[in-house]
Amino acid sequence: MTPRDNHMPTDELRALDAAHHIHPFSDTAQMRARGARVITQAEGVWLTDSEGNRILDGMAGLWCVNIGYGRTELADVAARQMAQLPYYNTFFMTTHPPAVALSAKLAQIAPGDKNRVFYAGSGSEANETNIRLARHYWHLLGHPEKKTIIARKNGYHGSTMGAASLGGMAGMHAQGGMPIPDIVHIDQPHWWAEGGGMSPEEFGLARARQLEEMIDQLGEDKIAAFIAEPIQGAGGVIIPPETYWPEITRICREHHILLIADEVICGFGRTGHWFGTDYYDLDPDIMTIAKGLSSGYQPIGGSIVRESVAQVIEDGGEFNHGYTYSSHPVAAAVALENIRILEEEKVIDRVRSETAPYLQQKWASLADHPMVGEARMAGLMGALELTPEKASRAKFAEEGAVGLMTRERCFANGLVMRHVGDKMIISPPLVISKEEVDRLIELAWQSLDEGMADAREAGAF
Ligand code: PMP
Repeated sequence: MTPRDNHMPTDELRALDAAHHIHPFSDTAQMRARGARVITQAEGVWLTDSEGNRILDGMAGLWCVNIGYGRTELADVAARQMAQLPYYNTFFMTTHPPAVALSAKLAQIAPGDKNRVFYAGSGSEANETNIRLARHYWHLLGHPEKKTIIARKNGYHGSTMGAASLGGMAGMHAQGGMPIPDIVHIDQPHWWAEGGGMSPEEFGLARARQLEEMIDQLGEDKIAAFIAEPIQGAGGVIIPPETYWPEITRICREHHILLIADEVICGFGRTGHWFGTDYYDLDPDIMTIAKGLSSGYQPIGGSIVRESVAQVIEDGGEFNHGYTYSSHPVAAAVALENIRILEEEKVIDRVRSETAPYLQQKWASLADHPMVGEARMAGLMGALELTPEKASRAKFAEEGAVGLMTRERCFANGLVMRHVGDKMIISPPLVISKEEVDRLIELAWQSLDEGMADAREAGAF
């Protein structure tokens, strides 16, 4: 088989895949039993599999294909850059035009004084950088003991050791000695599941104040930073109550700890603004970016750093940190073209003024489904809470089973909707049309009906 061989029969592709390919976040035995789904091409919001089925991608890949599939401008830019300068690094006081242009552009679109960028190949790597940056920053300021980072349970920050330690995914921590030292977690602001009898506003404050309690418990002089996603994505599109972020901001300021906003999902238009930071009017010291930075067309991530923080690092001499693919010229050129499209085609403005209000209204109607306890959405990222009993916000006995059944129904019906436990989540390409939104909602409703029938049959109700 050669890389050009796109026409191998599905069975053969599956057999070779099963023989040689270790998949991320997959149950291999289950996958082999039924064969991996083989995606061969895509256009707009539509995927096509090796059997010719068209599937509406309600997840934009992994929350990343913001401008949609099939934009040949990005392929053209990549081809030109590969011919001119396919690779060079920015170590040892070197640079190249795509890195310069992308950095200047990011400084322009990032809010306030977030004017300096350190590049990585992914969101995970960028968060590794952030751990190093935050600790090095305090060390240079004469506080080497300020190195603990506070993060949140059920947050997601990546799969490398440091990033997965920042994340609060119990299933990941159980596999391989995480969290690494000096990373601690507070509870998430997930009102529907954990709010009990409190109002969302009271609960938002209570969860934010856990940060202050943790700082008091460990000592302000030990804490380097707090990291969080403006809206938790992989944890299940958890939109914090309105009281949460202002209180977190106050606490970070008063206690002199850096605030790191992980914008890997929220960034580049997902909320109808450039960043989640704009959506919530935050002022973080560092923003993690990846995914929508290139709409997933090239692997690239980075840390956008506040001028004053970057200045301390720069005044400290050499920062002993970097990746071979930091500011990769092809990835940088493609990211720049992606941002050009987002800007010139007013993609984010359209999300804010048209698509998000339209989808949100339709999405809210799914709360009428007998199995849906809550239908929430911010910008173009949303979740449905599946429940056997709406009034009490009850959970199913076997967590995740009904979510999985419903997700399988979605796939069979030609819709990619992901499940996180018993939450169903979507995050479609930002270019989704109103007709495609209507189709998404139709398919979601049908899949919920079928998922509920399966759940009944399995005795989950
Ligand atoms: N941070 C957040 C908020 C993410 O959602 C992700 C990926 N889902 C990451 C970091 C890690 O990014 P990557 O997979 O590119 O390493």
